[in-house]
Amino acid sequence: MADEQIVLVTGGGRGIGLAIAERLVAQGMHAVVFERDAGLCRALEQQHLERLHAFQVDVSSEREVHDALQQVAARFRHLNGLVNNAGIAHPSGPGIRDLSFERWRTVLDTNLSSVFLCTKYALPLLERAKQPAIVNMCSTRALQSEPNTEAYAASKGGMLALTHALALSLGPKVRVNAVSPGWINTKQDPAELREQDHRQHPVGRVGVPQDVAAMVLYLLSEQAGFVTGQNFVVDGGMTRKMIYLE
Ligand code: NDP
Repeated sequence: MADEQIVLVTGGGRGIGLAIAERLVAQGMHAVVFERDAGLCRALEQQHLERLHAFQVDVSSEREVHDALQQVAARFRHLNGLVNNAGIAHPSGPGIRDLSFERWRTVLDTNLSSVFLCTKYALPLLERAKQPAIVNMCSTRALQSEPNTEAYAASKGGMLALTHALALSLGPKVRVNAVSPGWINTKQDPAELREQDHRQHPVGRVGVPQDVAAMVLYLLSEQAGFVTGQNFVVDGGMTRKMIYLE
């Protein structure tokens, strides 16, 4: 495995993470996927045979992340990349008045502390590769908000800050960048989307997981060798629109 390209994708069983894992496999790399659903892990390994390796892990648990990375180390010896993608991807929730501390902690643990844990325990494996890179799946909601999204917004804002802090601490060996998707349709049947859902985007359509995967693959590659500590917005231009009611 010494010459093989191996990338760990958290939450790689569905949505954006799956699109990234599939793209890695299609390009001849190995995708190591951390996913918490055991049935999904088995199905993924069957579908993608020898290049996708699924581990059942709750990325918010220090013990599980530590143990899983010990198993990854025993099997692969190095990692070329880490994509911290797993997350509770529902921005809206109870607003501050009804948001329980337990729910706040669950969102922060899953979306933000997981990035700390996976990075910390993957680092020895990343440092064995030639030009390793980390990509953190952030959100345009790190910088903009709708009401009642406090926990999600805080988790993604924290990820953005963690990205530039890690870029400084881990450079020059490891590059660290963030990708901030806008509306990427991972949940709805595309036929359910309305004409105005597409039309409101400057590019004329809602995003698909492959739009984000393309940016992640670039940031992992040696072509991005002069790029670190940055945030790349993939939102069809939505955050460039000035919106005032007529
Ligand atoms: P999905 O819900 O489709 O996928 C998220 C994945 O993360 C699932 O496989 C989920 O597993 C996994 N996951 C969640 N919690 C854990 C955990 N504790 N341990 C291990 N795996 C976990 O979401 P998306 O693909 O839409 O989103 C992916 C990332 O992109 C998220 O970080 C999200 O915040 C971000 N993002 C998405 C946007 C969008 O419009 N889709 C916009 C901006 C950012 P399971 O399903 O079993 O819970």
